[in-house]
Amino acid sequence: LDGYVGFANLPNQVYRKSVKKGFEFNLMVIGESGLGKSTFINSLFLAELYNTEDFPNTFERRRKTLFIDSTSVLLNEKGVNLRLSIIDTPGFGESIDNSNCWQPIIDFVDSKYEEFLNAESKINRKLPILDNRVHCCLHFIAPGHTLKTLDIEVMKKLHDRVNLIPVIAKADTMTPEEIKTFKTNVLNVINDHNIQIYEFPDIEDDELENNRSNSALKSKIPFAIVGSNTVIENEGKPFRGRQYPWGCVNVDDLSHCDFMALRTMLIRTHMQDLKDVTNNVHYENYRFKKLAYVTG
Ligand code: GDP
Ligand code: MG
Repeated sequence: LDGYVGFANLPNQVYRKSVKKGFEFNLMVIGESGLGKSTFINSLFLAELYNTEDFPNTFERRRKTLFIDSTSVLLNEKGVNLRLSIIDTPGFGESIDNSNCWQPIIDFVDSKYEEFLNAESKINRKLPILDNRVHCCLHFIAPGHTLKTLDIEVMKKLHDRVNLIPVIAKADTMTPEEIKTFKTNVLNVINDHNIQIYEFPDIEDDELENNRSNSALKSKIPFAIVGSNTVIENEGKPFRGRQYPWGCVNVDDLSHCDFMALRTMLIRTHMQDLKDVTNNVHYENYRFKKLAYVTG
């Protein structure tokens, strides 16, 4: 298994800044329960965290997620420090009445903006301010034919607050044809409802291998992913996957699912942009609304 996360491959300018200051990234996962959110979190960092002392026990848990739960790990790669926090949320849509099931998520996101705003406005502020704002929110969608009303509802509530990235969960339960149709369908619905999902900008840094592969990755939105915490061996080669009577899915194989594409964009190529958009757009929105309310 590729034993490292890859954030040290950040564009040069960002890299230099991060060596000095360290780097924080906060990733949230939301969606119905049972879609593989907790498994995904494990898959995302299994190889990297599995053998380190930092590996927190909470990552191994298989039980149901009942509270919004944030776990942080400190990673160091090529001299770059990254504090990565994963915010796992309970599945929504389980009650008889699901109106406002998104409220705890909104409250969590807003409370982090509020904390940041308070820290910024202190007269003797300590620099740098610890950044606990949610930089990215992965919205897990159940495999099927179309977006559920509840998903649309939640997206509408969140899209102007955080960087939303839709992902199709458990892609191994669909055929490639079905996935293709579902993706088109999801994008159409998102478009029809004027929902603003995070737009992966083209990478301008020349040093970043190639923009062509970037647009190839981009074309996979909404990413259809498969998660697994099981390491399977095939002809002596270990990989994260799911085994079936007829064969196995390799989570890391781009021809099997979009997990690697999502991972690359999150961790290698677009981490800084996600942080920038959070700060410049979503946080500014929050601040503006807040100040307008106070003074108006
Ligand atoms: P959560 O409630 O969204 O956090 O879901 P969990 O991560 O707890 O996973 C629920 C169940 O789905 C577990 O039995 C997982 O092994 C299984 N699971 C997770 N990811 C996948 C996937 O990509 N495909 C399939 N078929 N099952 C998955
Ligand atoms: Mg869970």
